[in-house]
Amino acid sequence: MKGFFRFSIVLMTAPLLCGAALVVGYVMLVVLTIPQLPDWAQPGVEQWLFDVPQYAETSDNGSYGNSTPAGMSAVPWDGYVGPGSEIYGLPLVGPIQHWSEWVGKPLLGCVFQDPHYRTHTGSDFPVNEGTPIHTTIAGKVVWSGSNGPWGNLVVVENNGYQVWLAHLSSIQASEGDILNYGDVVGLSGNTGNSTGAHLHYGIKQKTGEKSYVWLNPQSFFTEDEFISIGCSD
Ligand SMILES: [Zn+2]
Repeated sequence: MKGFFRFSIVLMTAPLLCGAALVVGYVMLVVLTIPQLPDWAQPGVEQWLFDVPQYAETSDNGSYGNSTPAGMSAVPWDGYVGPGSEIYGLPLVGPIQHWSEWVGKPLLGCVFQDPHYRTHTGSDFPVNEGTPIHTTIAGKVVWSGSNGPWGNLVVVENNGYQVWLAHLSSIQASEGDILNYGDVVGLSGNTGNSTGAHLHYGIKQKTGEKSYVWLNPQSFFTEDEFISIGCSD
């Protein structure tokens, strides 16, 4: 009877162990194989690095001029006006680490309203988690914390503009803080509606009592500041 009992236990555990072995095997395969792929095979894989459309913000589509923030993604306008309201440069500085490689300049992936990704409201910079993220505007921190699809989000406002830094792994600025240009707001990450470590950088402009537009961040930095790797299908 005892032998039979032991046999049943083995019989029941075997499928579980096999399942676990398969999962471990699969993960090992992915982790070991992907970075070894030749360049031509990378684009499909690179897709993992980019976030998916920010659904809570898609009410922007169409006019991009007359919409109100929805649900959890709402970040109220504070009305702060202070020195240094000019936006310029990039929120991360090179060299940066992208997977196992060091790259001299930040990499630009999906761009604003990318052909592959028309609802995209900012610029994506694929970068390993833990890279310091700097504000590109001096101003007041009007959001600091988790925010639905944006993950850990910091928003800095000044003079009718907001700089959005999303998907952070950790936040190092508090709501109400007055920041200087270039201050670190947190570390890059992969939180919220994101399928791989990257920074989503967005710029919002207030256009009326209840309206705003997303601006193309690329008009606030120059070609020599980044390396374009494009956005995959
Ligand atoms: Zn993005």
